[in-house]
Amino acid sequence: KKQAPLLQVEGLTKAYGAMKAVDDLSFSVNAGEVLGIGGPNGAGKTTLFDLLSGVTPPSSGKVTFDGHDITTLRAPEICHLGLSRTFQLNAVFNSMTVRDNLLTSTYFGVENRRVPGLVFDRKARSYTDEVLQLTGLTDHADVLAGDLPVVQLKLLMLGSAIVSRPKLVLLDEPVGGLNPAEIEACAEVFSHLREFHGITIVVIEHVMSFMTAFADKVMILHHGAKLHEGPAGSLSDNREVVDVFLGTS
Ligand code: ATP
Repeated sequence: KKQAPLLQVEGLTKAYGAMKAVDDLSFSVNAGEVLGIGGPNGAGKTTLFDLLSGVTPPSSGKVTFDGHDITTLRAPEICHLGLSRTFQLNAVFNSMTVRDNLLTSTYFGVENRRVPGLVFDRKARSYTDEVLQLTGLTDHADVLAGDLPVVQLKLLMLGSAIVSRPKLVLLDEPVGGLNPAEIEACAEVFSHLREFHGITIVVIEHVMSFMTAFADKVMILHHGAKLHEGPAGSLSDNREVVDVFLGTS
């Protein structure tokens, strides 16, 4: 018997007045898959993440996650069901250490690891140590997040989203703004991320080489709708898709 997808999106629409930022979009993601999402600025990628993560409510359509109808749930409830995300911009606690950022983020998971007085239990500490290792941040554990170099800051944002052990994580431009050498420095972390507790990943990224290396399948959005969907390798075969992906059309 075929297993239901982990994430199922049906006819999802978000209208701002007459403008549809996301327009009747349907797709699904199976457990264990990495779906890459591309498209030019304004295609609706971040709005899609805002809808899936409960930051903003949809105008219409339906989102099913892990058997739950999450269409009208708010962000904290969705998080506790095991769906987490990152943001494009710096979204860490700058005045806390790397370790404390991660410990704090364990709170937002399926298992709530917090005990009164912000004392975290052994499991929260072991999840944190595991993510410090995965992200290569162990040596930076006691550095204030606000003092981190850009690559480590990006990896901390990734770590904060996965330390709660979500079933699905939405990554919004995880290597955006990094130069090729910096992206290369992150490559190993992403190659290991796929194996992290069977996590399923949806990733927005403009960097095509990163996308084709990391994702199993890709979906290209244009004006809030699906322009292309297929295996990651199918991207470069299609000139129109490449133009839109790179924002050159
Ligand atoms: P980028 O790569 O630049 O982040 P994107 O694909 O993530 O682009 P969105 O940020 O989702 O695109 O924006 C999609 C469209 O919706 C844009 O035209 C944007 O101006 C519009 N939009 C987004 N949020 C709002 C809002 N709160 N009110 C009105 N329009 C909005």
